[in-house]
Amino acid sequence: MLCKISTVGLLASLPCARLTREAYMFPNMRKTFLGKNLSFGVGSAALGPIKLLRASTQLLGISNFCSSSSTKSLKIELVPCLRDNYAYLLRDMNTGTIGIIDPSEAVPVVDVLTQRNESLTYIINTHHHYDHTGGNMELKERYGAKVVGSAKDKDRIPGIDIALHGGDRWMFGDHQVLVMETPGHTKGHVSFYFAASGAIFTGDTLFSLSCGKLFEGTPGQMLASLKKIMSLPDDTNIYCGHEYTLSNSKFALSVEPKNEHLIEYSDHIANLRSKNIPTIPTTLKREKQCNPFLRSSSAEIRRSLGIPATASDAEALGIIRRAKDNF
Ligand SMILES: [Zn+2]
Repeated sequence: MLCKISTVGLLASLPCARLTREAYMFPNMRKTFLGKNLSFGVGSAALGPIKLLRASTQLLGISNFCSSSSTKSLKIELVPCLRDNYAYLLRDMNTGTIGIIDPSEAVPVVDVLTQRNESLTYIINTHHHYDHTGGNMELKERYGAKVVGSAKDKDRIPGIDIALHGGDRWMFGDHQVLVMETPGHTKGHVSFYFAASGAIFTGDTLFSLSCGKLFEGTPGQMLASLKKIMSLPDDTNIYCGHEYTLSNSKFALSVEPKNEHLIEYSDHIANLRSKNIPTIPTTLKREKQCNPFLRSSSAEIRRSLGIPATASDAEALGIIRRAKDNF
């Protein structure tokens, strides 16, 4: 999750010409953002992710969000980095725009791009930690790509060019991206929501079956961030920063052993991991059913950890987080 904090400082914050900032409201986000221009997202989400294995490359999976009823399309590839990080290579098939989310190192990304004879337009960071930004400068220098991240972390994200704020809508090629502030793991953590593709990149805020450690935030801040994500449509695909799911399932089962959805999902991911297949993306629906950090009001979890029924969800989340830290 965190190797070391980058000391590379920051640079200028250049506003993107195609950026607009608009306030957003919860929980009516779907209605707000699936407007005319984005309505194909429902259809594309229904197609679901398609995972392929390509053993000859470092590429482990491909999720393809194409809609037969639309000319817009976004392809998402998982690029494993370091020991258990995932970077995500994004391609807007209409404009040729290519981006990488959270490149912890450059080499695996360069390998994939070189194989395809492709370049890189954007480097997009969810937060400043080194295991999410370690490849920034090498990729920026090699491809001339622009670095995109939170304005709150403009002094901590290496090479940042485009500094975004919560609520901003930034354009990745033809795709509108909602920037969601999701602090708790770090102060400046943001998640990137591609509404029309039904995909969110949550970095180290929401994992499958867990959430990030609270390095710079409170349980209340993390709960608020998770609630923002929970307000998205249930079929939203969640792309997080690490392959922690199998390990997370053991803690989740220890605090909610009778959760049948969790038992079934845990069996499924154990099977996937035994074949070295990624468990990502997960879906919001599944996480609501199984992730203890989205279930702090669960009576079984509260009984398991001795959390009083009168404790708030934020207090409960803090206790669940501490229990996980010591698991
Ligand atoms: Zn982190």
